[in-house]
Amino acid sequence: MFRTHCICCGSARLHEVINLGLHPMADSFIPLERLSEPDQVYPLACDFCADCGQIQNRTVTAPEERYAAVDYSYTSSNSKTSRDHWQAYARRVAGQVGLGAGDTVVEVGSNDGYLSACFAETGAQVLGVDAAPVMARLAQARGVNTINAFFKAGTLPQIRAALPRAPKLIVANNVYNHADDPLGFTQTVKALLAPGGTFVFELPYWAVSVREFKFDMIYHEHVNWFTVTYAQNLVARAGLQVVHVEEVDYHGGSLRVFVQYPDSLSANFADLPPWQAYLAQEQALGLFDPLTYQAYARRVRQRRDRFLAHLYQLKTQGAAIVCVGAAAKGNTFLNYYNLDASVIDYVTDSSPAKIGKATPRTRIPIVPDDALAKYENVHAIITSWNLSGPLQKILLKVNPRIQFLNPYATEYDS
Ligand SMILES: [Zn+2]
Repeated sequence: MFRTHCICCGSARLHEVINLGLHPMADSFIPLERLSEPDQVYPLACDFCADCGQIQNRTVTAPEERYAAVDYSYTSSNSKTSRDHWQAYARRVAGQVGLGAGDTVVEVGSNDGYLSACFAETGAQVLGVDAAPVMARLAQARGVNTINAFFKAGTLPQIRAALPRAPKLIVANNVYNHADDPLGFTQTVKALLAPGGTFVFELPYWAVSVREFKFDMIYHEHVNWFTVTYAQNLVARAGLQVVHVEEVDYHGGSLRVFVQYPDSLSANFADLPPWQAYLAQEQALGLFDPLTYQAYARRVRQRRDRFLAHLYQLKTQGAAIVCVGAAAKGNTFLNYYNLDASVIDYVTDSSPAKIGKATPRTRIPIVPDDALAKYENVHAIITSWNLSGPLQKILLKVNPRIQFLNPYATEYDS
């Protein structure tokens, strides 16, 4: 089923951003015993709303299929880069909102509980909420009190019962963009947040993708993508207000947005640069103009075609091709470029939860990095490009002959 109206404001004024063809769920890897089963694929396209600035996935998929039924496997503390990021996040945000010992924090989409545990170290009482059973179990094992449920009005009594008082801080990172009903999600945040409290969320920044002609943050687990313009319109509809915005270097470029009740704005953010500057920047970038996306989609296609021409030339010359990083964005890349196991020997990854499985639809075996040691002539595509620097170092220790291919290099632009 396709969405014909904006899931934030209800407008029918939707314009196509890009159409990437048929894709499976990007964050579910196929265990060996299921290799004989067909993959479920869905059309993957997104549209922007000319009224509120939201960018949304055109295809409706069931949340149960995205997280509970499949073996959802992304853990937010899967690299040193991410662990460093979440430790710094907890320290900085706790200071910014004035979190004290005994205050309560709720983390929505708490995943494996890593960030919640960092907040617990500040002396706060922390409750995690996560829809994926496997993640809730990982967080519990870490000592983080976690409710395994979707964050919605119906779950509020259960959440409140697990808290001594209303949370001074609610955080939701890389989770809002997974919500089928972002307005309902925001209203639930508002219903739970203590007076004078702060809601902080972090997400990949859509503007970065458009500016750099990237498309691999588009996959079915994401229902919508965020601009500051959209964030402002969304929280205002729920009776909340943006008070501060930061751009952070995570997932290749993310937004961190701070939200409070309009009638109880804290002074903590008063002296910071005005976040409203983002609104003008987004207009200037053309983020809400159909012409921008015609040019964007054309460039994305052109890059793909030129990159593939180069790749097949290398194959003809006898090179082996591997991908590095079994991640959701890598699966969007592989599927859109139609690169399957006949072209790519392996996808390497360090996660025990992924090694031994295969990528969805493209069915490329996932192996540890040391599988690359055997090659004389091998080219590696780092699909987790946001971790490219540290990954190159690790891989060159495994095999100094590895050459790297960057599908986003400007040499593939015309
Ligand atoms: Zn809208």
